[in-house]
Amino acid sequence: MQQIDNLNVESLKKIFNDHAKLKLWFIHKDLIDVCKDCEYRHMCVDSRLPNQRKDESWYHKEECSYNPYICKWKGEEGYKTLEECGVISNEQGLSIDHDKIASLNEELWAE
Ligand code: SF4
Repeated sequence: MQQIDNLNVESLKKIFNDHAKLKLWFIHKDLIDVCKDCEYRHMCVDSRLPNQRKDESWYHKEECSYNPYICKWKGEEGYKTLEECGVISNEQGLSIDHDKIASLNEELWAE
């Protein structure tokens, strides 16, 4: 990755002529599965590159450190992976087991 101090006109032209990279400029968290359900999506700093499915929807191949469906960070008590919560996001699509998530949240957060 090029440092911003080292950018010149030629390197900027190269970036703007790389359509694959330029396309990513317009992809924001509201368009990416899982992230679009996250309360941090408008302030999240995430260096992972999103991937596009054949149907043009977006997803990440790897999970981040936060699970928005149970409001838990990795390492926090009660944390579970997306898969453990019944959320599968991969090249084939997104599926969410809403009943499982509701049950987990009841266990985690009910007083
Ligand atoms: S915290 Fe994780 S799930 Fe939430 S928007 Fe950022 S990368 Fe996506």
